[in-house]
Amino acid sequence: MTYFIATYGCQMNVHESEKIAGVLESMGYTLAEDIQKADIVVFNTCAIRESAEQKILGNIGALKPIKAKRKDMLIVVCGCMSQQEAMAGVLKEKYPFVDIVLGTHNLADLRKFIEQKIAQKKRVFAIEEQQDIAPRDAMPMVRTSGVNAWVNIMYGCNNFCTYCIVPYVRGREISRPMQDIVKEVCQLLKEGYKEITLLGQNVNSYGNGKDETFAKLLQTLDALPYKYRLKFMTSHPKDLSMEVVDVISKGKNIAKCVHLPIQSGSNKILEAMNRKYTVEHYVSIIDALREKVPGVTFSTDIIVGFPGETDEDFALTLDVVKRVQYQQVFAFMYSRRKGTVADKMDGQIPLAVKKQRLQTLLAVEKEISEKLALEHVGEVEEVLLEDVHPKLANKLMGSTVYGRAVTVQGAGRVGDFVKVKITKVKNSVLFGDIVEDEYGYFANDATLFKNKRTS
Ligand code: SF4
Repeated sequence: MTYFIATYGCQMNVHESEKIAGVLESMGYTLAEDIQKADIVVFNTCAIRESAEQKILGNIGALKPIKAKRKDMLIVVCGCMSQQEAMAGVLKEKYPFVDIVLGTHNLADLRKFIEQKIAQKKRVFAIEEQQDIAPRDAMPMVRTSGVNAWVNIMYGCNNFCTYCIVPYVRGREISRPMQDIVKEVCQLLKEGYKEITLLGQNVNSYGNGKDETFAKLLQTLDALPYKYRLKFMTSHPKDLSMEVVDVISKGKNIAKCVHLPIQSGSNKILEAMNRKYTVEHYVSIIDALREKVPGVTFSTDIIVGFPGETDEDFALTLDVVKRVQYQQVFAFMYSRRKGTVADKMDGQIPLAVKKQRLQTLLAVEKEISEKLALEHVGEVEEVLLEDVHPKLANKLMGSTVYGRAVTVQGAGRVGDFVKVKITKVKNSVLFGDIVEDEYGYFANDATLFKNKRTS
């Protein structure tokens, strides 16, 4: 019996698909080569954009003729799209060949629902909100992200940004007990994972009282007796405290690259987005991090063409991008989302204007990121080797503690920390040669270096 999981959307979903795979493998299913041959197909869906939902519905619909021939095939739809009552209704009425529809809160019962469907031959619909996160935490997992492991520290979101559907489909914030997170991370490090990414919609508001804050969690994990990289996503500027800045500055394992979504450089637009911070506050966090964490780098998310955004507002966004000098910008055109406040706002921006602003922003970002990358040619940086290069023979991909991507040549193994001399830059990616491995062997001592590598 085989399974296939189609995953859409963010890292939270990617990690949840690891849990879905864990449940299915614990039931005896193995990974199918392709979707059409699988005995059970799971669509782990995203609701962030309506266009994404239409694409997912199209992909589910494509299975109809296959299911007609293979009656035993089970089709499960779960995740943010199916958590919406209206969408669960669409799946019930218009997709009668879908067997199981689960919301974001009901995933922990996946095994029970599959067994129920097989035994009773009746379709299952479960989209009830549940507060108890213990069953979700207890799900088995098949990790798929190489030397990196994702670790949930909280679920849900309380922020209600006016463009976002997430709080409606993921529920209110609930933080995991700190001791459970520390135990999970310890186990992962013992197993040899070299990078841990803490996941939550707003990790900075993690907390279960004053003894369990995000700063304390970072500090505790940083002190574990292993060499590794500790990352986190996503941060909210209104909740990133000076205590967290302090912990990052003293950290030995915490990555020195901070992803801090600004979304817009105009206070008027930030207010309309209900982001609850000003550009001045945002910049003050950047300045504090720069002062306390030498060499720290930044990435961000920006939405262009939010309702009411004028040319002047957009110019303010470009000003912030130039001021902060982001290493990377994830830029999106605003897209209307039914069920959100922004969808009903006046002043929706024409698509052509949104496209133009996006292109302008991307051009500015490209110029900055290339300039920043070129500053490192000739330097020797510590790189974590993360994977073999999918296209370039005998090359590995890795990243520095500052989040710079590096394509590496030399005698290295995935999972090693190595010293790399940066030789050139192409499309903002650094290229370099390994000059020293993590045991202190130097590449110019060729025999010793090679023997060590191959032993
Ligand atoms: S912080 Fe805002 S953008 Fe992020 S998940 Fe919550 S509501 Fe959505």
